[in-house]
Amino acid sequence: MAYLANPANTAAVLKKYDFHFQKRYGQNFLIDPHVLDKIMEGAGICKEDTVLEIGPGIGTMTQYLAEQAGKVIAVEIDDKLIPVLADTLSSYDNVRILHQDILKVDLEKLSQEEAGGRPMKVVANLPYYITTPILMALLEQRIPFESITVMVQKEVAERMQAREGTKDYGAITLAIRYFTEPRIIAQVPPNCFMPRPNVGSAVIRLTKHKTPPVTVKDEAKMFATIRASFNQRRKTLVNALAGGGIAEKEKTLEALRSMGLSETIRGEALTVEQFARLSELL
Ligand code: SAM
Repeated sequence: MAYLANPANTAAVLKKYDFHFQKRYGQNFLIDPHVLDKIMEGAGICKEDTVLEIGPGIGTMTQYLAEQAGKVIAVEIDDKLIPVLADTLSSYDNVRILHQDILKVDLEKLSQEEAGGRPMKVVANLPYYITTPILMALLEQRIPFESITVMVQKEVAERMQAREGTKDYGAITLAIRYFTEPRIIAQVPPNCFMPRPNVGSAVIRLTKHKTPPVTVKDEAKMFATIRASFNQRRKTLVNALAGGGIAEKEKTLEALRSMGLSETIRGEALTVEQFARLSELL
């Protein structure tokens, strides 16, 4: 099978299978080989790697991954694409297609079965309607992974790299920062996809920290504190945490004083280290 990463070959496969794009699945297929080269280079895939691909589509990126990785596990939700993938990937014996919703996959079990618990690399051109739930599932389910290299909406990539105090800074920034080192590796315009999305895209690589930037005894409590402060981000931290049922006002005030922070500070001004300290004091 020829490479699919160009408009003519993609159109030919779509026609052969009379495939119609499903908007609800966020289907925008890559048709630009240069973008795929950049993703492969950024992800640094080698023969020792087991790669988890989320949403292979018609197999455009899967072809590249199969050639560079030891093994590829590709999880696709759309039943119409399963026979297409069987065809487009038929010449590779190191690819396993799973017909499932990635949000319902037991990732820990998958990583045990497919990679013997060794860290995997995650690579995907993500369906944009569920970018955050997918990334949070990968980070919070604690599957062993080395890096996550994903195409996301440009604004989402910027949010992941945002600095504290800016409007882009949010709960997702802190979760990403706590577990990984984020780095945008390419900007990708709409004309690299079929059909063209209405938004710009970017490829971001999230490299897992070898040692966490901060140690916290109760991680769940820290994330609950973070979520509560950003759920009501226009409020002061003291009010947001009281409203979110995390801590009484007086308790938060006391903690802020002992950390040398202003009593009227908002959550968006705090670093991940400060959230860790605050949640312990509370
Ligand atoms: N990887 C292909 C490419 O780059 O051309 C397709 C990328 S397309 C943006 C996203 C893919 O994710 C689609 O194939 C879509 O059907 C699939 N998808 C959407 N929701 C999914 C889910 N919950 N679980 C698994 N795959 C999903």
